[in-house]
Amino acid sequence: HAKQNHRGEAVLFTPEHETNMRMIAQIEQCLRRANLEQEIQLEFQPLFDAVEQTIVSFEALARWNSPELGAVSPNLFVPVAERSEIIHALTRTVLRKALKAARSWPDYVGVSLNLSARDLLSPRALTQIVAIIEASGVKTSRIDIEVTETSLLTDFVKAEAALAMLKRLGLKISLDDFGTGYSSLAYIHRLPLDKIKIDRSFIQEMHGNGVARDIVKSLIGLIGNLKLQCVTEGVETSEQFDLLRKFGCNVVQGFLFSRPIPQDEAPRFIAEVEAGRRPAERAAG
Ligand code: C2E
Ligand code: MG
Ligand code: MG
Ligand code: MG
Repeated sequence: HAKQNHRGEAVLFTPEHETNMRMIAQIEQCLRRANLEQEIQLEFQPLFDAVEQTIVSFEALARWNSPELGAVSPNLFVPVAERSEIIHALTRTVLRKALKAARSWPDYVGVSLNLSARDLLSPRALTQIVAIIEASGVKTSRIDIEVTETSLLTDFVKAEAALAMLKRLGLKISLDDFGTGYSSLAYIHRLPLDKIKIDRSFIQEMHGNGVARDIVKSLIGLIGNLKLQCVTEGVETSEQFDLLRKFGCNVVQGFLFSRPIPQDEAPRFIAEVEAGRRPAERAAG
């Protein structure tokens, strides 16, 4: 009866699981039949330079509005898509839409794209991804690829080679959700990384927790010592922001600055930041 949850911990089989499994099967069925081009929309969340408070890039976040299921959270449908080849079609749709949007932004605004381990490990998927990037006309130096550390552990050597190939094309590589997976500091320096994104769970613990603050400070120091850029996600309060800046974090992302915004609103958001009306007003208030 022993099952494993997503963290690989053994859990008992309960009726709840049966419901979950039925839900997963339903999501998978709807996703398989979905017209992704139509049903997947993007939201964009800005990443800010912690000192200058200028936009570094927008992260593309997939939103699925299923005719049968309604709005489904990416925390549900992305893992389901990742169980099969469905993820490749989802990734291609997100990349096409995100790169098309990025073409209308100023050159200094990058675009951050989440890739799944499966994308990196499939030569065919990777070839298609490169073709989409090349056809987009977006300069590769504007594109940031985000991968999670857990995703790299399935086949470290293959993933490392795939990232090195993307890096040779001029893309930037970020390690996403750092600290949540089975991170081994022994391999991090072997990866062709540009940035490390500290997971938001660390940032959220900082409030009134000296140990959590020390951990974040140490992580930021470690990332700096590796000569990598440090990004923190999930910044919700100006207290968190002040500490992160003091600790030397380079780039920040979170509800304090902006929630993910619909694709059409990105150009106006850029204009407002350029006019000095964001995000300082939020950070100060
Ligand atoms: P992620 O890549 O770590 O994205 C950041 C998530 O944190 C987003 O959730 C974002 O809305 C949320 N977030 C940002 N700032 C804050 C904050 O201040 N407080 C809180 N509480 N949350 C914040 P979202 O959009 O629900 O996406 C969840 C995850 O789904 C993403 O985590 C990513 O792993 C995955 N995902 C989303 N879109 C894609 C995609 O196109 N491809 C792939 N492979 N994965 C995706
Ligand atoms: Mg991400
Ligand atoms: Mg993240
Ligand atoms: Mg995260």
